[in-house]
Amino acid sequence: MAPDGTISATIFAEMSALAEATGAINLGQGFPDEDGPDEVIDAARRAIKRGVNQYPPGRGTLELRTAIAEHQKRFYTIDVEPDTEVLVTAGATEALAATILSLVDEGDEVVTLEPFYDAYGALISLARGEHRTVPLRLPDFQPDPDDLRAAITDRTRLILINSPHNPTGTILGRDTLELIVELAHEHDALIVTDEVYEHLTFDEPHVPIASLPGAWERTITISSGGKTFSTTGWKIGWITGPATLITAILTVKQFLTYVNGAPFQPAIATGLALPDEFFTDIAATLKNKRDVLSHGLEKAGFEVFDSKAGYFVVADAAPLGYDNAITLCRELPELAGVVAVPISAFCHEELAGEYSSLVRFAFCKRVEVLELAAAQLARLGR
Ligand code: PMP
Ligand code: GLN
Repeated sequence: MAPDGTISATIFAEMSALAEATGAINLGQGFPDEDGPDEVIDAARRAIKRGVNQYPPGRGTLELRTAIAEHQKRFYTIDVEPDTEVLVTAGATEALAATILSLVDEGDEVVTLEPFYDAYGALISLARGEHRTVPLRLPDFQPDPDDLRAAITDRTRLILINSPHNPTGTILGRDTLELIVELAHEHDALIVTDEVYEHLTFDEPHVPIASLPGAWERTITISSGGKTFSTTGWKIGWITGPATLITAILTVKQFLTYVNGAPFQPAIATGLALPDEFFTDIAATLKNKRDVLSHGLEKAGFEVFDSKAGYFVVADAAPLGYDNAITLCRELPELAGVVAVPISAFCHEELAGEYSSLVRFAFCKRVEVLELAAAQLARLGR
């Protein structure tokens, strides 16, 4: 907060406001421009009609907790007990908030990858923790094992990872996940894993770190229905993990929102039970969108990094003569009628330099919108 009491908006809110004000195509904030499956939307409508409009139970409805447990079993063969090992939250954001606020004491270190989703830095500050980061190295945005070994120490309380990753679209390799579990044991740290893009991988299946040997008892897994069912505004998220950790997180969560989204809970339960082909189809559709935008960006003169999952692709504007992505993103609505987000918005200042000409573009939009954006961006090279 500034001394005059104003607060700065998140980069996503700022960029969506810029798109709104200029009429530019919004490839900044990651939200789809189409509705998710009818089964899910209709289930919410029906729930409102039949009066599912009052506070649900604190841990979430049994129907949704059971659906989450069945989902973990079906996709990852992880056994989860719906009564004690699942907690429904107001999006992944509240899951992250309650987890960090309940488990981090003043001065505890939290290690994240960098670039990192903006809420991580803010929540670690709220908990008065110390934020340490491990850089993702270009061109494939993987962490160096030695950097992980150096960052994770006996002072580390949480190792907070995000795979598939926002903003880079990278997926952490199995070796990296195994090393993280090993380091968590060695230094008695807990693992928090943000897997909101779990169903949006393009060429390889998602591997939850909790499924690795020795991981479950020290891992808190966070996900959300927002991305999978194109319902980012519903804010139905969840946590799975050992009962004692879930109880600790619940003690904080009950005073953040208490509960949320009564009629959306049965709707997301319906979504989680959809047949396998729904899940393969959404990934295939998004992969095509990734290709449309990535090729368009390449044709426009950007150097484009391979996005393996999620909603976003990173492109380097340096070949077009733009070394500062922050300046470029401010000017982009005027130059090309497009809004995007500089990668440095996901970095601490010291590190922003390495990523200073990198831009994040969202491809979770209709194909014709992506094609139009790409055609407009081609103006930059002229
Ligand atoms: N984590 C990551 C990596 C995200 O990209 C987002 C944004 N969609 C969230 C958490 C927040 O998810 P939710 O909208 O469910 O709170
Ligand atoms: N996760 C979305 C993104 O990265 C935005 C969510 C938000 O606006 N907080 O674009």
